[in-house]
Amino acid sequence: MHELGIAQNILEIVQQSVPEDQVPAVRRVRLRVGQLSGVVPDSLDFCFSVIVSETAMKKAGLAIEQVPTVSRCKDCMHQFRMEDLAFLCPACKSANLELISGRELEVVEIELADESDEAL
Ligand SMILES: [Zn+2]
Repeated sequence: MHELGIAQNILEIVQQSVPEDQVPAVRRVRLRVGQLSGVVPDSLDFCFSVIVSETAMKKAGLAIEQVPTVSRCKDCMHQFRMEDLAFLCPACKSANLELISGRELEVVEIELADESDEAL
């Protein structure tokens, strides 16, 4: 279950990006996850919630944006979404393809609670 290791990495990234006294205010971590990364969003979300429940960041959740797999043909420059793993250009049948997106696994934004939320 490699989502657990990824969730751990995300936690570390957040802890390095946010000043220590702000860590309890983290509410949402926005991620971009490519289809080819092999990550199951629900599983990653679950692992993350388990990990953070033991930390000061226990109110934080994930917002996962899935990035489609997009390739470009280097022969005819046709750009297309790969719905399945067919590694041929649909326009000219060339196999000379370049992957443009689909392997992303990155933290794009870390959202902190507003001061007004802290009145509890
Ligand atoms: Zn082509």
